[in-house]
Amino acid sequence: MSDRRVPFLDLRPADSPDLDATLTAIRRVLERGWLILGPEVEAFEREFAEVSGVAHAVGVGNGTDALFLLLTALGIGRGDEVITTPVSAAFTALAIVMTGARPVFADVDPGRLTIDPAAVAAAIGPRTAAILPVHLYGQPADMLPLAAIAERHNLALIEDCCQAHLATCGGQPVGTFGAGGAFSFYPTKNLGAAGDAGAVCTGDAALAERVRRLRHGGQAARFEHQLAGVNSRLDEVQAAILRLRLPALRDATDRRRALAARYRTALAATSVAVPPERDPGHVYHLFPVRLAERDRLRAHLDAAGIETLIHYPTPLPEQPTFAEQDPASCPTANIVCAEVLSLPLHPRLPDRAVTTVANAVRSFPDRSPG
Ligand SMILES: *Cc1c(COP(=O)(O)O)cnc(C)c1O
Repeated sequence: MSDRRVPFLDLRPADSPDLDATLTAIRRVLERGWLILGPEVEAFEREFAEVSGVAHAVGVGNGTDALFLLLTALGIGRGDEVITTPVSAAFTALAIVMTGARPVFADVDPGRLTIDPAAVAAAIGPRTAAILPVHLYGQPADMLPLAAIAERHNLALIEDCCQAHLATCGGQPVGTFGAGGAFSFYPTKNLGAAGDAGAVCTGDAALAERVRRLRHGGQAARFEHQLAGVNSRLDEVQAAILRLRLPALRDATDRRRALAARYRTALAATSVAVPPERDPGHVYHLFPVRLAERDRLRAHLDAAGIETLIHYPTPLPEQPTFAEQDPASCPTANIVCAEVLSLPLHPRLPDRAVTTVANAVRSFPDRSPG
């Protein structure tokens, strides 16, 4: 039990019906005795593809594996470079490393905070095989110019949709602009399992089939390993829990948008900058604000009982594991990572919590220059 006035997130069951329904779903799977790659996974794949506006979904172990499997199924690996954003969960770039390819970081757009198409164009070299934008915080990346660049240079386009369930860009579902999209159902994501889970979405039936084989040891048929696959299967219990939670995703997304609008109004005349909504298809996985004195603001909110997090404190080119990779210079990313602070925003957050947070922000003695 958190004693915070406003905890960042609370993943305990909302009420007993929610817990009872989850236990009933788990019991159904256990009583059936079919625990891996069975009817729940098949049904979830169909249902998730349908709500996401994509032709095919393939359930896998987690979002990182979803990225890795998509890249691998496209033949991307050793000797290749994949251009991605310096502001993301490190798992985005680690998935590239898992394939044997090298991540190349292209700076972010200072307003949208997603990868800047002009920086992507400038980063293309003879080894570039793919572009991997991230729909950061739930805001779609600038997909039309990115798709045009990918097309012009004959590069694969893979979308990291791990924070962007049901998001659209210019009305078009994320994950449909290029080869496919990778989704995570990590418990804190907009659609979360009770453990690790993920999915690959694609409009390409042959690509979906390759991912299906790769996730299961590369088998074309039982005991016939055609590809050097891995073990990254979505299990039946997690699929059953995801199926139970999926019908509420649309309303939960609307609630996130309503809370974000409320925050925008409440924070309008305060010292913090609120990154603009560049597309109404934004699904508000997170709600970051920006301030040069971010760390002092965070301590001030903490003292008021308001829990915040930083997404992300370190630009990826500065992470030790990517340090030897000759990172492109990403000055905007450095500023963004020093200034962003994620405020509490989740579907169960009451309206009054937004007022509490905004009042605490307003009482912050800002001493930033300007
Ligand atoms: C969560 C996340 C991942 C990794 O997903 P996992 O399911 O934790 O492996 C990758 N990219 C982004 C942007 C994420 O938010």
